[in-house]
Amino acid sequence: MSLFDSPAFEGHEAVHAFTDEKSGLKTIIAVHSTARGPAAGGCRMWPYASADLALDDALRLSRAMSYKNAMADLELGGGKAVIIGDSRTQKTPALFEAFGRAVDAVCGKYWTAEDVGVSPADLTHARRHTRYVAGLEGHAAASGDPSPVTAEGVFRGIELCVKRALNRDLSGVTVAIQGVGHVGGFLADKLHAAGAKLILTDVNEEVLRQVAQRTGAKVVSPGAIFDAPAEVFAPCALGGAVNSETLVRLQARVIAGGANNQLADAEVGREVFRRGVLYAPDYVINGGGIINVAGEIRALDAGEAFDPAWVETKLSRLIETLGEVLDRSRQENRPTHEVANEIARARITGAAEKKAAA
Ligand code: NAD
Repeated sequence: MSLFDSPAFEGHEAVHAFTDEKSGLKTIIAVHSTARGPAAGGCRMWPYASADLALDDALRLSRAMSYKNAMADLELGGGKAVIIGDSRTQKTPALFEAFGRAVDAVCGKYWTAEDVGVSPADLTHARRHTRYVAGLEGHAAASGDPSPVTAEGVFRGIELCVKRALNRDLSGVTVAIQGVGHVGGFLADKLHAAGAKLILTDVNEEVLRQVAQRTGAKVVSPGAIFDAPAEVFAPCALGGAVNSETLVRLQARVIAGGANNQLADAEVGREVFRRGVLYAPDYVINGGGIINVAGEIRALDAGEAFDPAWVETKLSRLIETLGEVLDRSRQENRPTHEVANEIARARITGAAEKKAAA
């Protein structure tokens, strides 16, 4: 199948591929939409087995960023960069400098930030050659680690879902968290402070021990988290946690967490709905991190300092949007992920039409 016929390419404005022989850089920058503003999305470094797989990932992730940014009501479109390589062995300053030149060649239609395998320190090298880098540290506009803001959004989203599904507050509610890294760890602290009971798992035993100790949580093995007697299941590890095998084991009435791509596929999302489980669409509830990054882009553009109050306003609005998704799902008797996709598409198309008419 050619690139233009590929379902992953559909709707994309542009895809750029760059190489740099000296540093070994091979990168793809996918720009899904600039209808709402410049495309924004992180850069992932991964040892893809082929350029086709890297391209597919870039396209899938850039479209997801368009939806996420639209639901967070940001004046940003969706884009993503992938660097083909092993982040443990192939990172060099020269590689990220070359990446910075690649980003600059897209002329401000794409803003980059960190994602899997890429750190703020790596991006400092890229920043030498382009201004279109966010997620840095140590300057007035810098937004710092986005994870606490992501966790705050997920916490508020869980609170809302529990109210809707169980008609109670978080006190005494049992939440099973899969993955207690950056987002899951902060989330555990917030839920503990709100009086929730926690069941935690992680493949990293040391991190798990630390978080469990400070939150008084029960610990289970990674495989047992799906059988945990909990009212809420919060996936905060990798994608695909909710699939046909795990769904039948879950006792939770609410699925709401920070991980991206929680549903293995759309059919699982429909089955979640048929079972009467309330699912908070992942790219809505976990939008706090990109809101934080958007705060940095906004500050850099205006030559101002980072403004936490702006982030808070956007975060509150995000949780209202989640409420609107849940309302429409109930009124129209449709799965929440379908409603969210429809709203996101309408926001992107509406902005594109407005731009075309201007
Ligand atoms: P992280 O790497 O800090 O934490 C993930 C944790 O999950 C790690 O501790 C890891 O050991 C654990 N884990 C991996 N596989 C597991 C498994 N099978 N069972 C149990 N634990 C497992 O990453 P993070 O920044 O906390 O992000 C977590 C998820 O949230 C990811 O899907 C990420 O894409 C998504 N997300 C993160 C942010 C953010 O601000 N960091 C924003 C939006 C979405």
